Amino acid sequence: MMVLLSLISGTTIMAQFNTVGRLDNHQVYKTKNPQEINSSLVDSLILNDSLKNEFIKELKARYMSVSYPLSKIKINSPYGYRKDPFSGKLKFHNGLDLHARNAKVYAMLAGKVIKIGQDRRAGKYVTLMHGNFTVSYCHLSRILAYEGQMVKAGDTIGITGNTGRSTGEHLHITCKHNGDYIDPMLIFKHIETVQKDCIATLSQL
Ligand SMILES: [Zn+2]
Repeated sequence: MMVLLSLISGTTIMAQFNTVGRLDNHQVYKTKNPQEINSSLVDSLILNDSLKNEFIKELKARYMSVSYPLSKIKINSPYGYRKDPFSGKLKFHNGLDLHARNAKVYAMLAGKVIKIGQDRRAGKYVTLMHGNFTVSYCHLSRILAYEGQMVKAGDTIGITGNTGRSTGEHLHITCKHNGDYIDPMLIFKHIETVQKDCIATLSQL
């Protein structure tokens, strides 16, 4: 036991000696005892840290406040005038067509499900309201939402399909602002901007 103790204390002494030796060989570092560090500095560091965490949390929430409607985005047909796939005549396309194969459809923004239904044109559809905007997701094979439901961005509201007036499976998205059709690409641009801004800000922290 004595041998062991002396070995331990010997090691400690050696370690201390080495440390002092190194310091002597180089420069003398003035260090403060932790208790001597100004407590207001510690407080402000903790505050900075919690503010930073809070900011990161907000950035994450902002990033999650938008979602593309499908996990893979490939535009089949844009909004605007085009040759109608059925009649071949120039006709206004009131939405955006995305390539899809039995894919989950995500709400692009938080909002309320104001209508679900099925008709000959849109097939099975879900309409969400986001303030003055409404967004409809059409030609679904399955509806996974109910009227009055509150959804978050990224919530699954349906499965893509080929119901209604459709020449092949795709997701048709229409967007209205105060009742007038607008290009859904505007929402895509918004999603892109929000996510890019959040990533850029996060990478600077
Ligand atoms: Zn379409």
